[in-house]
Amino acid sequence: MKITRRGFIQTAGAATAIGMAGVPYIALGASKKVVVVGGGTGGATAAKYIRMADPSVEVTLIEANKHYYTCYMSNEVLGGERTLDSIKFGYSGLAKHGVKVVNDVVSGIDPKAKVVKTIGHGDFAYDRCIVAPGIDFRWDKIEGYDAEVAQKIPHAWKAGPQTAILRKQLEQMKDGGTVVIAPPPNPFRCPPGPYERASQIAMYLQHSKPKSKVIILDPKPKFSKMGLFVGAWKKLYGYETDNALIEWHGQQEESGVVKVDAATKTVTTAFGDEIKADVLNVIPAQKAGKIAATAGLTNDGGWCPIDLLTFESTLHAGIHVIGDASIATGMPKSGYSANSQAKVCAAAVVAMMNGKEPGTPAYVNTCYSIAGKDYAFSVAAVYRLAEDRSKITKVSGGLTPADASAEQLKREVLYAHSWFNNITHDIFG
Ligand SMILES: Cc1cc2nc3c(=O)[nH]c(=O)nc-3n(C[C@H](O)[C@H](O)[C@H](O)COP(=O)(O)OP(=O)(O)OC[C@H]3O[C@@H](n4cnc5c(N)ncnc54)[C@H](O)[C@@H]3O)c2cc1C
Repeated sequence: MKITRRGFIQTAGAATAIGMAGVPYIALGASKKVVVVGGGTGGATAAKYIRMADPSVEVTLIEANKHYYTCYMSNEVLGGERTLDSIKFGYSGLAKHGVKVVNDVVSGIDPKAKVVKTIGHGDFAYDRCIVAPGIDFRWDKIEGYDAEVAQKIPHAWKAGPQTAILRKQLEQMKDGGTVVIAPPPNPFRCPPGPYERASQIAMYLQHSKPKSKVIILDPKPKFSKMGLFVGAWKKLYGYETDNALIEWHGQQEESGVVKVDAATKTVTTAFGDEIKADVLNVIPAQKAGKIAATAGLTNDGGWCPIDLLTFESTLHAGIHVIGDASIATGMPKSGYSANSQAKVCAAAVVAMMNGKEPGTPAYVNTCYSIAGKDYAFSVAAVYRLAEDRSKITKVSGGLTPADASAEQLKREVLYAHSWFNNITHDIFG
C-alpha cells in the first residue's frame, strides 16, 4: 500500500490522539509542531513567543512577503515625518529565536488532516496552527473601486508600495489642491487611523501647499478619539473656520462615498453630492484576510469567531486566530492588540501542548495619534477576560486629557516613536 504524506500524517495523528488520552504530549515525546500563517504583527509575535516559552516546540512561520511594512507610523510617512525604510522589517531576528521562516503564500488549511498548504513549498503538518492574516477588502461596496483601481487610487491601508504611491501623489499635487479621504464603515483596522492620516496630510500641506485642503467623507457619525482630534484640528488647522485645512463630513451616514470615477477622481456620496479630488484616498470596508475565509474560519460577517481565552477558532479545533482577523470582542483592531493577543495565544498553545490548562489572561492596548508637530495624544487600556468568557473587558486605562498642556502633547510625540521602537523590537528583534 502506498502511503501518501497526508495519509501518514493522518495515521500518525490518530495514533497520537489514541495514545495520549489524559497524558501530557511531552511525556510521550510526541511532536510539538506549530505552523503560523502570516508573519505580520500578530503572527511574528506568536511565533517568537512560543519559541521563548518552550524551545522544544518546532515553529514554522509562513509569510507571503520577504519584508513587512508596519501600518503604524505609515501615516507619518505620508506626512513626510518618516521614510518608508524606517517602517520596513525583515525576519532574521525571528530566525535567531529558532523560528523556521518560509516565504510563501498559504493556499489552504485542512483542519482534519492538520495540514497547511502552500503554493510553492508543499504541505506543512501541524499539531496547532495559528492564523494571523490581517485584513482583506470588500471590493463590492463602492461602485468603481476595486483592487485594480486601487493601484492608481491607493487605499494605503496595507503599508508598503501603496504608502509610497499616496505620498508621491501628495508631493505632486498643486498648491490649492483637494485631498479627499473616504474612511470605511465599522469594524475596521485601526479606528483612529483615517483621522490621524488626515492630520498628518494637513500638517504637510500647511507648510508645503497651504492653499490646499483635506476633505473627509465619512459613513460614520462619530469616530475614535473624536474629541481629541477635533480639538487638535481647531488648534492647528483652523477647523470649522473659512480657512480650514480639514473638513469632516460624517454627521449623517449619507456622507460616505458610494461611487468612484477613477478617470476624473470624482467621488459620489450616498447623498448624491459629487466631489472632485486632486488626490483621492479610498479606504474600503474590511473583512478577515482571505485565507481565513478559504479555511472556513469566518462567520457570515467575514470575521473569525474564537474562544477569547485561547484564541482557538470556535469553527475548527486546533486552529487559533489572532489579530485583526479575529473577533476579539472588546478590543480594537490594532497592532498593539494583535501583539498582546499573540502573547496570550502563545502561552495558551504552549500550555495546551504540554497538557496544562491555559492561565487567566490579561491583554493590553495603547494607541498613539500624532496630529501635528509636537502634538500627539493616546488611548490606553488593560483588559481582562469577562467571567462568562463572552468578551474582553477593560479594567483600567484612559485618554490624554482634553486640557493637556503643550508640554504633555509634545511628550506624547516622543512616547509614540518610543512605543514604535519597542514594539517592533518585541515583534521582530
Ligand atoms: C494607517 C494605519 C495606521 C495604524 N496605526 C496603528 C498604531 O498607531 N498603533 C497600532 O497598534 N496599530 C495601528 N494600526 C493597525 C495595525 O497595523 C494592525 O492592527 C495590525 O497590523 C494587525 O496585525 P495582524 O497580525 O492581524 O495583521 P498584519 O500585520 O497585516 O499581518 C498579516 C500578515 O499576514 C500575511 N498573509 C496574509 N495572508 C497570507 C497568506 N495566505 N499566506 C502567507 N501570508 C499571508 C500578510 O502578508 C501580512 O504580513 C494602523 C493601521 C493602519 C492602516
